[in-house]
Amino acid sequence: MSLRVAIVGLGKIARDQHVPSIQAVDGVELTAVASRNAALEGVLNVATIDELLARGDAFDAVALCTPPQGRHAQAWKALSAGKHVLLEKPPGATVAEIASLQALAAAKGVSLFATWHSRFSAAVEPAREFLARTKINAVRVHWKEDVRKWHPNQDWIWEPGGLGVFDPGINALSIVTAILPEPIFLRSSDLFFPANRAAPIAAQLDFSSPSGLAVSAEFDWRATGAETWTVEVETAEGLLRLQDGGRRLHLGERSMTDAPDREYQGIYRRFAELCAGDASEVDLSPLQLVADGFLLGRRHEVEAFHEEPAR
Ligand code: NAP
Repeated sequence: MSLRVAIVGLGKIARDQHVPSIQAVDGVELTAVASRNAALEGVLNVATIDELLARGDAFDAVALCTPPQGRHAQAWKALSAGKHVLLEKPPGATVAEIASLQALAAAKGVSLFATWHSRFSAAVEPAREFLARTKINAVRVHWKEDVRKWHPNQDWIWEPGGLGVFDPGINALSIVTAILPEPIFLRSSDLFFPANRAAPIAAQLDFSSPSGLAVSAEFDWRATGAETWTVEVETAEGLLRLQDGGRRLHLGERSMTDAPDREYQGIYRRFAELCAGDASEVDLSPLQLVADGFLLGRRHEVEAFHEEPAR
């Protein structure tokens, strides 16, 4: 029997990825949408999570594609109603709030899946396997994109809990924490806040590890033109480069992986597996590193950020 999924928050990522990926994966079916300002043909449409849960016979699981600031309350309601829950990244607006959701999912015997879509990129697992058997000398992350292109008029992203440039940057950290054989921890953080915004537009981070590995990360939303989503790892066997957000892997000039974007299909396959066993999967390490970035962050004020209002 198919896992019947309801999407909450029919915004950019729900339309770009969740809807087509659910359609493409066997054993998963989209049966409902809860969104205040949008609707989808062919499924049950309601405005809020409360209205959705009142129609609980129409779905088994909820995919929360809303901004992180409101996620905890929505997840709490869905888990309380005995529904499996998929959380878009980041799993919440704070680190501590997720523990109560994990406990509730366990008590209710349902699944909680905190997704990190970049971990489902084709090059991530081959990179992890390669790095498990070679010496690593240094890691450098370059994650630069145009905020106007990727997050047009998303006011929530500039508010506390919206993460600013860490919204994409956390994807890089989800890859780094998946491929390295040891945990990393923050050493220093410089955050660049536009004079009129509550979240950073750029960040420069330095991490270390128990063995003393140097890991640097540069996140910047002020880039124009082509985006850079690259993790470079200096190893004893040469420079390993994950590019395009983890879709391509090179060792020196040699291509090791080059695959199309199927991240969200991987997410829904994994979600179906988890739900079949009422199991949960929650790794908070990328969110913890971002929280530490704010905790240790040295604040720098930069030029105000203005955007044309949406028409
Ligand atoms: P978005 O375009 O703003 O969509 C979010 C949707 O949530 C809105 O369309 C809105 O639908 C609903 N919503 C409910 N409460 C809201 C509130 N208080 N403020 C704004 N919207 C609210 O955002 P998105 O880019 O899809 O991102 C959603 C989540 O997915 C974020 O956590 C983000 O990090 C993650 N994500 C985004 C991308 C990307 O490329 N954009 C990629 C991967 C992951 P209604 O108004 O119809 O209720």
